Amino acid sequence: MAAVERGEICGLLLGDGVVVTRLLPCRNVAADPATRFEIDPAALIAAHRSARGGGERIIGHYHSHPSGIARPSPRDAADAAPDGSIWLIVAGEAVTAWRAVAHGAVEGRFDPLTLDVSGCAGSGDSPQGRNAIPPR
Ligand SMILES: [Zn+2]
Repeated sequence: MAAVERGEICGLLLGDGVVVTRLLPCRNVAADPATRFEIDPAALIAAHRSARGGGERIIGHYHSHPSGIARPSPRDAADAAPDGSIWLIVAGEAVTAWRAVAHGAVEGRFDPLTLDVSGCAGSGDSPQGRNAIPPR
């Protein structure tokens, strides 16, 4: 068995609108996984294909910050396309959610999202304001 590598973990957020229905862990294929993340393109392609076939849509992705700071880094801002996708950042036990936008409040690229776990697995809930995990 492969040992768990130190460094950033990452994966895709699948769901609808701002409702995350599933976290799909992906391999971090970044050249320097200790400080960067890059989702395995094969996993990304497979998820896009599945979405086209009627599966869950890709609404964003998540990654960890080994630094323990659950806030987008300047590097995240540089890497983020302002496409409205959701960025979930995991640092220790803290999880924060952000939306990548053109003129964000944080690093010029991210607006904070409120997390709400209550609508996560349910169906028929209003997607308004429903997100993945509450702030502590
Ligand atoms: Zn980051």
